[in-house]
Amino acid sequence: MTETLSHLAGLNEAQAAAAMATAPQLVLAGAGSGKTETLTRRVADLILRRGEAPERLLCITFTTKAAGEMRARLAARLGAGRVPRWVGTFHAVMARLMTEEASQVPGLPRGFAILGQSDARAVLMALAGLKDAREGMALQDAVSLLKGSLLGARDACPQGPAFARFEAETLRQAQALLPAYRAELDRRAALDFDDLITRPVEAMQADRALAQRWGTRWSELLVDEYQDTNLAQHRLIRLLAGEQGRVFAVGDDTQSIYGWRGADVSQIRRFRRQYPGAGETIRLEINYRSARAILLAANAVAARDPQALRKTLRPARPDADWGTPLLLREAETPEQEGRAVVKHLQALRAGEEGLPWRECAVLLRAGFLAEPILAALAEAGMPFRRVSEREPEVPRDILAAQAWLQLAMSHDGHGWNAAADDAFRRACAHPPRGISGRLFAQLRQHAAETGLALAAAAEDLPGSDEDRLRLRAVADQARALAADIHRRRLPPEDALQLAAERAGLAAGLREAGQAHLAAWEAAFSAASRFGSPAAYCEATALGEAADADLQADVVPVMTLHRAKGLEFDHVLMPGLEDGVFPSYRAEAQGSLAEERRLFYVGLTRARRSLWLSWVRHRRDWAAKPSRFLAEIPEQLFKGPPGAGAPPGPVKRTLPPPTQAETDRLVAEFHARRKPPGSGRRKREG
Ligand code: ATP
Ligand code: MG
Repeated sequence: MTETLSHLAGLNEAQAAAAMATAPQLVLAGAGSGKTETLTRRVADLILRRGEAPERLLCITFTTKAAGEMRARLAARLGAGRVPRWVGTFHAVMARLMTEEASQVPGLPRGFAILGQSDARAVLMALAGLKDAREGMALQDAVSLLKGSLLGARDACPQGPAFARFEAETLRQAQALLPAYRAELDRRAALDFDDLITRPVEAMQADRALAQRWGTRWSELLVDEYQDTNLAQHRLIRLLAGEQGRVFAVGDDTQSIYGWRGADVSQIRRFRRQYPGAGETIRLEINYRSARAILLAANAVAARDPQALRKTLRPARPDADWGTPLLLREAETPEQEGRAVVKHLQALRAGEEGLPWRECAVLLRAGFLAEPILAALAEAGMPFRRVSEREPEVPRDILAAQAWLQLAMSHDGHGWNAAADDAFRRACAHPPRGISGRLFAQLRQHAAETGLALAAAAEDLPGSDEDRLRLRAVADQARALAADIHRRRLPPEDALQLAAERAGLAAGLREAGQAHLAAWEAAFSAASRFGSPAAYCEATALGEAADADLQADVVPVMTLHRAKGLEFDHVLMPGLEDGVFPSYRAEAQGSLAEERRLFYVGLTRARRSLWLSWVRHRRDWAAKPSRFLAEIPEQLFKGPPGAGAPPGPVKRTLPPPTQAETDRLVAEFHARRKPPGSGRRKREG
């Protein structure tokens, strides 16, 4: 080849083939084999070698953090100006599409609001007359499962494990509530998260011309973590991919961990049927992430998955020995386990100068395990962050400052853009100015009649009573803010600060407590990573700037579900008791295999070391170690449980192992073990 393909440099043969293949194309490979990396390089390839316009590519990532990383990597390769706009989670990219094209979707008002999970839950609970928060969450989860499975009020519920998780009564109630819930959201001019997927699907199914238009809008859809997409998302991808079905999907069925939420892993096996032009499925077989001991442990666990498609992973890391042995500890109580976590973290740092805390992650099966760990971390004065599940915990005043900035940036010097209508609504509400709901309804009406953005309609609304003046003041203030930001050419972090000051949010900032200040710091530092206030606003509007705080140098504490796709030098997994992991519930509901895959996901997050622990007495019961621990070959642990030494520094100077050498090691390893679950092969396929 005469062209220089520097954007593909360093990829192995299979990765390069995947990056250059013609879509539709599926890549199916194990953890750490470079699926996400390959997808990113493919984007570069499409733009640089094949001359594709960046805005014609739609990349769907699993988390907002992944989206941020992908953008950063692409910016490094392509230059900031050529990074595709359409990189984000399903929800984020659809929120943008719906905002830009609200007028195309029947029944969708311009400037619609997107309800956060807790707001949406409040609506549901009010409709159902529920007071109990737990019941509310169950109801919301059931509603979400139904919508994600494209089921309506009159459809029969399927039997799968995702549905078996709910009481029959909860499901029945959720289903019965669907029409009223929809009506209430319509009344509020709002969508919930699931609507961001289902409404475009509905709209395209109902309107061929729209399906045609949206189906040709992108020349290719690139989807990461394909194994965890639900039915509604599959349908959406299929529709957006248009007749040509130009989809490039990467996934790993061994990491399918969202069956309980309606993800449909069977779709991965059906890919070539759904996209008839698809080439032979590409496998990636070299693991670039984990030291050998970790990889062998993960492979041994994965081999017990009765349903998984066969994949082999060979190690490629330059740690020529097996890396640090896995450590297994047992503790008497959760408190003791918390202190052991702290001790291990301290030992890791002591063993390696300059090791950042953010490279040492504590990954948990369930949220309740976090408490004693967080207490111990706090007591030891270690910096940590509990990465939340449902929504990023961005304090209200930061959200408000972002809304102000977004509103300001929507003024282009001549007029207002309706895309910032929701920001206008939020700016009016915070800090509170006592603008009445009635006036706001009038304003919406006026905007609808005149076709103006809300801020423009506020300026245009006749009358001069107090209420109206307050409304107009919001627009005036935002306009002045915009002028200042442009005149002084402020970088995004300063623009955000100015927005907070002007809106009167900065007073709170001064009085804020330690944690709150840290949140502001994180917001400023996240903002500083964007090229301009406008680029930052675009990301915040999609809820994507918040996740950037994973960059802060703190020990991340999160559930395994949240850790998907991420990697850390050192991973600690406490709480490995039977009944917790696998959970009693999973066992009762027959989803043991999914639990094991979750364990596999946890193991494969680690690059260099794994520390595992279990507790003899959690709550009232006497526990046993997780059965999954027994699936890890003994020799990968050093010494008896409770006696390992902290890992030393890695030897990075050793040459990478040759292929023959790694093959031999893997073969040796397998020879020493009896074949796992002898009935497995038969059940496959
Ligand atoms: P997961 O299934 O956990 O999402 P993945 O298959 O997406 O994993 P990546 O995150 O893309 O894997 O890659 C794992 C690590 O290996 C990353 O640090 C990545 O930069 C590195 N990597 C991938 N391919 C190569 C390569 N050809 N050479 C060197 N490093 C690579
Ligand atoms: Mg990945």
